[in-house]
Amino acid sequence: MPEKLISAAIDGPVGAGKSSIARTAAKRLGFIYVDTGALYRAVGLYCHRSGADMSSPADIASRLPEIKPEIRLCDGVQHIYLNGEDVSEEIRLPEISMAASAVSAVPEVRTALLDMQRKIAAENNVIMDGRDIGTVVLPDAQVKIFLTAAPEIRAKRRYDELCAKGVQTTFEEVLADLNKRDYDDSHRAVAPLKQAEDAVLADTSGLDFEQSCELVCRIIKEKL
Ligand code: C5P
Repeated sequence: MPEKLISAAIDGPVGAGKSSIARTAAKRLGFIYVDTGALYRAVGLYCHRSGADMSSPADIASRLPEIKPEIRLCDGVQHIYLNGEDVSEEIRLPEISMAASAVSAVPEVRTALLDMQRKIAAENNVIMDGRDIGTVVLPDAQVKIFLTAAPEIRAKRRYDELCAKGVQTTFEEVLADLNKRDYDDSHRAVAPLKQAEDAVLADTSGLDFEQSCELVCRIIKEKL
């Protein structure tokens, strides 16, 4: 009998540190790390580039047949491809964050990306992060964590990250974007951001990066 695969779902709002913490925890535990937000970002990037009306779910949905997002793992590191092009860097731009949030509210987009995410979890030990992993994508995940922190702390982390990459922005702009995305993500009709009933709440407001990683690794190990 093959060994049973393990899935750990990490959900939470913008800038909670999900990706950096999950990536590190996955490395320490020997799991594959999957950042599902990158898929929504790739779809958002395509719609942005092709001039879609981002306020029109019908316009966004009509473009889906032209969009092939793909997660490829290179030495365990996730790269995201859009129609064969590596867009791993470009999808991180602030305007693409907003585009990702807009497309993620379209039911057809969510359906199109669902199987891809489930397939990766069916073939690997994964730590998968997103907004609906514990509630919709992997409802039977052995470990579910809802990772959060106070909005100002999350905005400060995100602002520092963008500054380090040379993106011109202000703290106020980052905080406003973050609040808008969190509001939209939590209030959409399909797969809204919310803590799964059986998820462990992890608040990293008072923790540094290493402490947050230790907390997440401990929660995962306790559940295995
Ligand atoms: O996690 P990240 O900020 O990269 O995600 C970008 C956007 O994609 C989120 O604001 C959210 O709207 C959407 N998303 C989602 N479901 C997921 C992952 C991301 O709706 N599982």
